[in-house]
Amino acid sequence: MCLTHVRELIEQDAKAFHKLCPTTDYGIYCAGLNKKQLHHAVTFASIQSIHKKHIESGFINLCIIDEAHLLNDSEIGCYRKYLRGLLSINPKMRIIGLTATPYRLKSGLLHFGDGRLFHDIAYELPLQQLVHEGWLCRMIGKQAKVHGSTDGLHTQAGEYIIKECESVFDEERLVRAAVKEMIEVGHDRKTWLIFCVSIKHAEHVASVLNENDIECKSVSEKTPKAEREQIIKDMKAGTLRAVTNVGVMTTGTDVPNIDMIVMLCPTRSPGRLLQMAGRGFRLSPETGKENCLFLDMGETLIEHGPLTHITPPPQGSRKEKEKKGKVCPKCESVCASHATECADCGHIFEGVPRKIKHAEKGNLADVMSDAPILKNDIYQWYNVLNVAYNKHEKIGSKPSLKVTYKCGKKNFSEWISFESEKDFAKNKAKQWWSDRGMGSDFPETTDIAISLIGFRHPKKVAKIKVKMDGDWPEIKGYKFDESAQQKQSTYSTGNLADLHQRTSER
Ligand SMILES: [Zn+2]
Repeated sequence: MCLTHVRELIEQDAKAFHKLCPTTDYGIYCAGLNKKQLHHAVTFASIQSIHKKHIESGFINLCIIDEAHLLNDSEIGCYRKYLRGLLSINPKMRIIGLTATPYRLKSGLLHFGDGRLFHDIAYELPLQQLVHEGWLCRMIGKQAKVHGSTDGLHTQAGEYIIKECESVFDEERLVRAAVKEMIEVGHDRKTWLIFCVSIKHAEHVASVLNENDIECKSVSEKTPKAEREQIIKDMKAGTLRAVTNVGVMTTGTDVPNIDMIVMLCPTRSPGRLLQMAGRGFRLSPETGKENCLFLDMGETLIEHGPLTHITPPPQGSRKEKEKKGKVCPKCESVCASHATECADCGHIFEGVPRKIKHAEKGNLADVMSDAPILKNDIYQWYNVLNVAYNKHEKIGSKPSLKVTYKCGKKNFSEWISFESEKDFAKNKAKQWWSDRGMGSDFPETTDIAISLIGFRHPKKVAKIKVKMDGDWPEIKGYKFDESAQQKQSTYSTGNLADLHQRTSER
């Protein structure tokens, strides 16, 4: 069962699934699409249509919630009720949430806090890695010369107040200057998506663009469906160059050829920022797209840092606004506030201690986030929140077990080679296995190791010691939580039994 609450996504998910598994039969259950097909191997359903139909849905093994970050509190209610129903039929059903941004504006991380629906992050694929491996295209984040200031703007329910934003961003002179800069900077960009603060603002910007011979349409939730579909079609075909909107062109908008995103609005929400920027990450080699320019006119990158470094909002009380990005004086790219070198032009920032230099290798985000590392501090202990175990395969070498320790905002990984022929690697694997109390039968393959880890819960790692002075961080020591009954930190998303128990207690 694959659930979402956005109609466009149901069709997209079903299509993508069919492409991958052409012989598996599937159905769609969504009143808006006029389809009520149940009892297929896989069902793609809208939660609004199906939430009272758990009996009809029958025995479900796996329930996937797409775009899990979009659930609002009342929808969580619907989901809960439906999931509870499904769990009453199959108590062993598993639930997985999919999202690019595992946090919500108000409540922070999806797997934290009271009433959470999820218990853990099972698998994480950092944006940077997806870009690096070529699944997504590169985003170039530039601070525009023209930009509205967020100084003095107030927030309400965690987001800037629209009226105040309008007074800054919808000011005639700023709009004209912004359009002028878009035309200059975007002269070789084919498809522009512009985010504005309000419908009025979006219409204003569109009209100024049209005045300047850039064909532009404005989309809002008030735009009739047929018109909106036509606009998206024209964008995809490359016949419409620019579209302004107020955050409606995010989830479910699939226009891969967008090669310039303009943020003519600020946001306090890292999740919202990523969802907006996300429209530019798609690949579109057939239209000649090589990368996407993210032209920031709302100080969003200064506030949240470069797009591949964005971290969830802090839990509980909101921290004071701090700047996470800085502008390269040479090329206007926005870099992490503690970056030593501009990733786009190589400019060296003065006054930042240069300790680690390996921009492309390893996990840049891990290394470059948080405080600068001091020389005498090459070993650091980190508290481990959870651990993920995944098979790592690389052409030309034997598979290994990638173990990722999630430590707050940072992840550290190590690779355990059960199948290695080298004594050193094999001994390390044996030591690793026995340290975790995994028994005397040493697994011969990575697959066996992973399944054993699933059965016998390895000893909980409370802290890891990380060496920071090499090419990438190296894990050099562990502290185990001897008291803990290992339960949480397994590689599965799991704990549905818990969910079941908690929901039925009410
Ligand atoms: Zn630069």
